[in-house]
Amino acid sequence: MQKILNNYDKENIFAKILRSEIPCSKVYEDKYALAFNDINPQSEIHILVIPKGEYISFNDFSDKASSEEINSFFKTVRKVAKQVGIDTSGYRIISNHGPDSHQEVPHFHVHILGGNPLGTLLVKGGK
Ligand code: 5GP
Repeated sequence: MQKILNNYDKENIFAKILRSEIPCSKVYEDKYALAFNDINPQSEIHILVIPKGEYISFNDFSDKASSEEINSFFKTVRKVAKQVGIDTSGYRIISNHGPDSHQEVPHFHVHILGGNPLGTLLVKGGK
């Protein structure tokens, strides 16, 4: 079974995006966060919001980020939803943490999904 990482991997794909080593389709950026379109969208609008700091997952971000970073980050999620015009039609925010969640990229991120009806939250026992 995959284990939760204890050390931040500076070579993860989102770290490379933050260092501009690989491109992204940027939606928003400020001092603490970057938002860009997911490369494999699961809905009409599928944006990833990531902090600029080195945090592995939601646990890590919650435990180690400053109150200012946390406050700014979640306000950014809301700001991005408004910017792309889904704050009244509705959207879903998801953050996967650890093996059971199927987190693939070990840099904390929030998915913003919307732009069409999203259906039920989870497929039970989905792989
Ligand atoms: P996770 O499963 O870790 O919560 O989600 C990782 C997300 O990152 C997936 O939705 C995947 O499509 C997206 N992703 C992986 N590699 C890249 C990339 O190089 N660029 C972008 N824009 N998204 C990526």
